[in-house]
Amino acid sequence: MPSPRAELLVAIDGPAGAGKSTVAKILAERLSLKMLDTGAMYRAVALKCLREQIDLSVIDDHGPTTLPTIDRVVALTAATYLEFGPGDPAPILLDGEDVSGEIRSLEVSEAASRISVVPGVRRQLAGAQSRVVEQGGYVLEGRDVTTVVAPSADLKIFLTASIEERARRRWLEFHAKGMDVALSKVVLEVVERDWRDYKRDDSPLMLAVDAHIVESYGKTPEDVTDEIVRLLTPDVV
Ligand code: C5P
Repeated sequence: MPSPRAELLVAIDGPAGAGKSTVAKILAERLSLKMLDTGAMYRAVALKCLREQIDLSVIDDHGPTTLPTIDRVVALTAATYLEFGPGDPAPILLDGEDVSGEIRSLEVSEAASRISVVPGVRRQLAGAQSRVVEQGGYVLEGRDVTTVVAPSADLKIFLTASIEERARRRWLEFHAKGMDVALSKVVLEVVERDWRDYKRDDSPLMLAVDAHIVESYGKTPEDVTDEIVRLLTPDVV
């Protein structure tokens, strides 16, 4: 029988650019919980694939699972050591190397989205994530955390906003970092990533039946966090 969880567990899913990371971080600080950014793990594996010059363009949602590229990506995932280092925000370490900055490029975003359709990758990463949050004490965010990674979370949130708003936010993020990317390119990137997240056969992004839908359009991350905190009623905590 699984042992009861020692601490609170909050799971947030939603499409790219909905504001999950920002809100999860503020929420974790407010509730004195740790934060797990599951997307950073997909991004780190994707970065390693790019460094190994694996051509990920051959992977599509419904491709044959025996494709050599898929086998290579699955093997590479198994041979990768991921951990979060000390600090706030916690840096992601790929085989011991801090890649927190490098994983945020448009190229890595696309690669992460592509490898996320591979069941052998999802199984390994989701399994590792479930083990990390098993005892609670976390706010975790991603695409399958309310459904696969932590289906028994105390509070489940589906955070969303329109595609225009999410693309606009991503574009502003890139510009804040001095990255000159055309808005049209960012819109296309968000549309493609959404499509893969919603359409993949293995653990697609979907609304868990017991998740609360929270809209982030027109609200500050603090407002959204307040809304989530209000959902933490006594029967949840
Ligand atoms: O959240 P973030 O944009 O950093 O995630 C990068 C990619 O990893 C996403 O496009 C998504 O396809 C994938 N992902 C996933 N499952 C998760 C987290 C991220 O498939 N739990």
